[in-house]
Amino acid sequence: MRKNKFRFIVGFVVLAAAGACVWLFVQTAYIVPVLMYHSIDHNDKITKLSVSPESFARQMEFLHKHHYNVIPLEKAAPYIAKKERPPLKTIAITFDDGFENNYTEAYPVLKKYNIPATIFVIIEKIGSPGFLNWAQIKEMSDSGIITIGSHTKTHFWLLESKDSFLKSEVADSKDIIEGKIGKKVNVFCYPMGSFDSRSKKAVEDAGYVCAVATSPLKANPEDVFTIRRAKISRSSDNLLVFWGEISRLYTWFKRQGTETE
Ligand SMILES: [Zn+2]
Repeated sequence: MRKNKFRFIVGFVVLAAAGACVWLFVQTAYIVPVLMYHSIDHNDKITKLSVSPESFARQMEFLHKHHYNVIPLEKAAPYIAKKERPPLKTIAITFDDGFENNYTEAYPVLKKYNIPATIFVIIEKIGSPGFLNWAQIKEMSDSGIITIGSHTKTHFWLLESKDSFLKSEVADSKDIIEGKIGKKVNVFCYPMGSFDSRSKKAVEDAGYVCAVATSPLKANPEDVFTIRRAKISRSSDNLLVFWGEISRLYTWFKRQGTETE
C-alpha cells in the first residue's frame, strides 16, 4: 500500500514537472533575449555597469564557440511582435550611452567573431571625453556589424515631459544621427529605461521599429516598443552565470517581475 502511494506521488511529480516544462516552453517560445552592456572597462566598482574587456572577450568567444544566433536588435522585433519562434539560441546585443570603449574594446572583438550589436548614442555626449565621436560612429555603422540607435539628445527623463521636449529628444535625435551616418535609425532606447504611454507613442510616431527599456513596468511582453533586456555586469564574469542570463527562460522569468531598476 505504502509502495503504491509512493509511486503515485512520484508519478504525479514527474507529470507536473513535465507539464510545467511544456507550459514554460510555450510561454518562452517567441522570446529573444536582449543583452544590455554599457561601458567595457575596469571601473565596475564605480558604476556597477561596467564589464571588463577580458570578460567581454570571453563572453563573445563563448557565443561564437557555442553557435549562438546573434541577430541585430531590429530583426528581433518581428519575432516578438508576431509571437514567432526564433531559431534556438537567438539573442541580440546592445550597448547604452555610446562610450568610446565600445569602439576601442568591444568593436574589435565583435568584428573578430562577426557578431552584430546595437549601440545607443546620446547626441549631446558625442565627441566629449570618454564618448564616441562621429567618425567612430560612422565607421562602425558602415562596417555593417554595428547598428546605431538613438538614446535621445540629452539623456533626460522622458516621463511627464512637454510635447516639444519629447519630440526633440525622440524624433530630432533620430534625424541628427540619420544625417550623420546616411542610414535610417530604427531603434530607440529610453533613458534610465523609463517610459510612459506618451513617450512610447512619441517613439512609435517618430518611425522607429522598436525600442528597449530595462524594466517593462507593466508592459505587454509582446510589445516591441518596450523590450526588456538582461543587464550584463561584473556578476556575469562567470560564464555559467552569463549562460543563464542569455537564456530565454531567464528572460521570461525577468519579464514576470514589475520592479524598476
Ligand atoms: Zn543611458
